[in-house]
Amino acid sequence: MAQVDAQICGCPRDTLCDACVAQRSAWLTGAAALRGERWGREVIGRSTPQQRARPWPPYEGAAVARAIAKVADLSGDARLLELLGRHVHRWAADEWSGALAARRVSPLTHLAGGGRR
Ligand SMILES: [Zn+2]
Repeated sequence: MAQVDAQICGCPRDTLCDACVAQRSAWLTGAAALRGERWGREVIGRSTPQQRARPWPPYEGAAVARAIAKVADLSGDARLLELLGRHVHRWAADEWSGALAARRVSPLTHLAGGGRR
């Protein structure tokens, strides 16, 4: 019987306890990943070839604010938003660098009987 629900825990929504931060982070990781992937694609879509040659900006300054804005509706807790912001940022960076595309392609090539064309 899992009785770890935040409602039962009763900690404030904007000052979650460690257990609730960890649990909600696990719940929201997938949503953050999808948003990061979409963010990366959007930026790729409006970038020039010169911009595409640059690396994704590091997680600092304006990039932190942008990443956290992507998940701000998911929680009112600053620690949880910081974790999710890092996650969104990492997925966007992986989409930008092509690492996500590489991960997407490999299982499909196995399903199709393997081998690159
Ligand atoms: Zn709690």
